[in-house]
Amino acid sequence: MKCVMNCNKKENWNHLFECQAYELIWQKILEIITEKSIIICLKQKQIKCQGEDFIRNVLQDILGITARSEKFQKFQHLALKVKVETHLTIKLQKDFKITLNEAQILMANILIRFILTFKELLWKPKCEQIILWEKRKGIT
Ligand SMILES: [Zn+2]
Repeated sequence: MKCVMNCNKKENWNHLFECQAYELIWQKILEIITEKSIIICLKQKQIKCQGEDFIRNVLQDILGITARSEKFQKFQHLALKVKVETHLTIKLQKDFKITLNEAQILMANILIRFILTFKELLWKPKCEQIILWEKRKGIT
């Protein structure tokens, strides 16, 4: 089938990352995940005392600042497979001066939030669009 965002290209998994119509949604997902990650960090005393600006910088360095950035594109592809590059977890450990175990837990929390936000903002609305499209075509 064709893309539900009406860009006329073929809809497949890769198209989710390439379609211009999805770019705004990805940007929103990135902003939400950055804010949620900051909140997770602020809950940890050791990290909190390093200041919110510093925390934001570290997270933006991992997630990227725009949905088009190479950092975010790498992160999103791996995160949807529930994977993450090891050097990013080590960066969390070093920058926040926490143990590797704490960094792994923190990264796992960021990944979970990312996947939930992706489901809510992109996947669910997309599936609803597909159902509507099928109804229009008389497919049940
Ligand atoms: Zn498209």
